[in-house]
Amino acid sequence: MNCHEAAPLISAFADGEIDRVQSRDIKTHLEGCPDCGKKHRDILDLRSRLRAEVPYFTAPPALRARIGDLPRTTPTRSADRVERGRWRWLLSGALAGCAATVLAWIVGTSVLTWRANEDFVAQAVQAHVRAALNNHLIEVASSDQHTVKPWLSARLDYSPPVPDLSRDGFTLTGARLEYLAGRSVATLVYRYRDHTIDVFVRPESSGAPPSAPRTVRGFNAAHATGSGMSWLAVSDLNPEALAGFVGRIARGPDQ
Ligand SMILES: [Zn+2]
Repeated sequence: MNCHEAAPLISAFADGEIDRVQSRDIKTHLEGCPDCGKKHRDILDLRSRLRAEVPYFTAPPALRARIGDLPRTTPTRSADRVERGRWRWLLSGALAGCAATVLAWIVGTSVLTWRANEDFVAQAVQAHVRAALNNHLIEVASSDQHTVKPWLSARLDYSPPVPDLSRDGFTLTGARLEYLAGRSVATLVYRYRDHTIDVFVRPESSGAPPSAPRTVRGFNAAHATGSGMSWLAVSDLNPEALAGFVGRIARGPDQ
């Protein structure tokens, strides 16, 4: 081994990180080479001076309290350490458990809300199909919103707006009541060309996200919120036109 080969290995040798064969070679070189031998002695010297001369600080009580559960510098009974370790694990386990519970609750309520929306859409489509098959789409036949609105208000615990969208080609033909998701729901019936559109109007339920437009059994369903109500339109009208219509009806006639 020459100086060039020894140079990168000297500090590793000082740290005892060199394998036995290389150690023997470098040791032989260090003993025979004044320069490399001095580098090696300097490293050992620096290390021992660091150990001896650099002051060692213990944390003051205030800092210790702020950092929390540090091991003490004075040896403690191992039982005490085990006890404190156990509490630490219990605490972190409890916190992790809380986080998991909160996450499960958020996911759970989201899923329940989503399920409730999906169920309502499915029930609304079913009601639309049933009414059409039984020729029972209309209970109050009128194109006059001032006739339809009082008829609904008299039969419900809320008073749904009955927008007039005849300018856009959507003619109000009447209304009926449907019993969906455990309550009576105002159902406005509009016509657009040869399409019948049922609009299920409920008071806006707090925090329920609008369900995305979707197709159920070949019928399209589009949802919007506005005017304090939740509006679900169901029809065989194409999804884009239906979504546009339900958006306009939810915003109100003056928008
Ligand atoms: Zn050398």
